[in-house]
Amino acid sequence: MKYSKCERVRIRLASIPNFADKEYHHDQIKFYAKMTELIYKALIMNSIRSFINEVIRCLNIKEDIELRVMRLPSRRSRVIGINERGRIVGRQIYGRAWRNKPLIDIFPNLIFLDKLSCPSYNVRFRLRRIILNSVIRGVIHEILHKSGLKDENETKKVTEEYYETFRKRYLKQFDKEIKPLLREWYEFEVAMIR
Ligand SMILES: [Zn+2]
Repeated sequence: MKYSKCERVRIRLASIPNFADKEYHHDQIKFYAKMTELIYKALIMNSIRSFINEVIRCLNIKEDIELRVMRLPSRRSRVIGINERGRIVGRQIYGRAWRNKPLIDIFPNLIFLDKLSCPSYNVRFRLRRIILNSVIRGVIHEILHKSGLKDENETKKVTEEYYETFRKRYLKQFDKEIKPLLREWYEFEVAMIR
């Protein structure tokens, strides 16, 4: 894809780390690999990319920012269980802003309780919801930290304001652009269940 001059963000998909095989069941690696590939594809959609560029400009960040989509969940994420509504209960780390370089890592949600077990598919993973609720919020949150905002509560509050702006201005375009990715995810899930 081409980057125009006014592009302030570079989006990159990390490679799957060598240690993956030791820590995760093979099917879980496949699951996260596909999910992060689609998160990457979502981040380069016009709606999200335009929005991120605006946030970077709006916050007067001097350096261009690189967003790196990691292929496995953060080691600091924890899953305690799944509630009756099928939601994962635990702690999720969505991103990390590097202190000494203009780099932000984006992590997929940790989804399975036991990393080494064969993943069970009694729950459908709603990719649209994951991208909206976790990924976009995570990106905004870390960019705010990059702009110098340190207080965690303040960062969370401002994240919600930017997130609302995204929904107001870009949700329609987002929903159009994400359709092929949702189809791709659906086909992947169906193939995994078999
Ligand atoms: Zn934070």
